[in-house]
Amino acid sequence: MKRPAWKKRDRPLLLSLPLFCKTVFAMRIDNDPKLDFDDVLIRPKRSEAPTRSSVDLHRRYRFLNSEQTWAGIPLVASNMDSIGTMQMARSLGPEMMTCLHKYHSADDLIAFFSDETARGHAFLTVGIKDQDLEKLRRVASRTKLSFLCVDAANGYTKFFVDRVKAMRETHPDVTIMAGNVATPEMVQELLISGAADIVKVGIGPGSVCTTRIMTGVGYPQLSAIIECADAAHGLRGHVCADGGCRTPGDIVKAFAANADFVMLGGLLAGHDECGGQWVDPENRQAGMRFYGMSSRTAVEKYAGGVRDYRACEGKEIVVDYKGPVRETLREITGGIRSACAYVGAASLKDLSKCTTFVLCQRTHNTVFGV
Ligand code: 5GP
Repeated sequence: MKRPAWKKRDRPLLLSLPLFCKTVFAMRIDNDPKLDFDDVLIRPKRSEAPTRSSVDLHRRYRFLNSEQTWAGIPLVASNMDSIGTMQMARSLGPEMMTCLHKYHSADDLIAFFSDETARGHAFLTVGIKDQDLEKLRRVASRTKLSFLCVDAANGYTKFFVDRVKAMRETHPDVTIMAGNVATPEMVQELLISGAADIVKVGIGPGSVCTTRIMTGVGYPQLSAIIECADAAHGLRGHVCADGGCRTPGDIVKAFAANADFVMLGGLLAGHDECGGQWVDPENRQAGMRFYGMSSRTAVEKYAGGVRDYRACEGKEIVVDYKGPVRETLREITGGIRSACAYVGAASLKDLSKCTTFVLCQRTHNTVFGV
């Protein structure tokens, strides 16, 4: 005789276990709305408006595990090979940070970090291979380091956390930034188990990134920042919002969402301080080749080609020549100052407290282009 459906619930607990596991680990849909920069604007507010020129863009941080302090304008040049150059670091410093790309030779890094001022505003970037650890050991044995960035496209693996932890053990006083991730539980894991100080947040938002197209994986960047910053700040850690800022307004939204640092790639591409991938080295007006660090171009250049089990997760484009980077920085910092004045924030520190995001369908008028 067929057993009635309700009777099946009587089965012994042990027999129900596979059903239970399937239910718990089954695909699910998160119905909470997740937002990107384009989904919001910041509401202007009546205030005893600070003048733009009086807005203080400096932040002062004490890092969770290194216990080091840092003060400056918390913008960071990305560790992409054309952006994270020593020339960029010299132009952005001492107020802003640069993540040097990981393809500088150990000798060049030793020479660079031997200059005490350079140490305060540049991260040494390493990956998580044995050869990265060896390079770190070599550079650190010859010069003092203040900032280290441990970089992997996917910061979700146990191996990644273990490597960050290993670097913390050998470098207890160095401020370690690690990533990338985009969800709070992994921010906590990297701060607690990995003993990192700053977690880099962003999976797939980058201007020359194709991860979302190739894998379908990602997390809307504004929500990623809000959720990850909340998790980090609860532990006294910090986050660096990495990727997706196309305009000064996006940078403002990232800070308003509580990012402690904002990292820039594409916005800094095409400047004199960038690495040497000009379309025509004799004529910069022809533009700069700019490619993702997981693009075919980068993989062929640095990893001897694309392995047959891998897909490229970056693309190559040409960006216009933009002259010296300080002009672009003036535009960016001008935009942040103005935003602070609009919402009545006397300093960048106050911006998120003064922010109300409003959901919108259209952020700006595109009748004459962007
Ligand atoms: P952007 O400021 O250009 O929007 O984003 C810069 C960030 O994009 C970088 O700091 C890095 O995290 C990420 N990125 C750079 N190259 C690639 C790539 O080839 N693939 C992916 N998935 N992300 C990349």
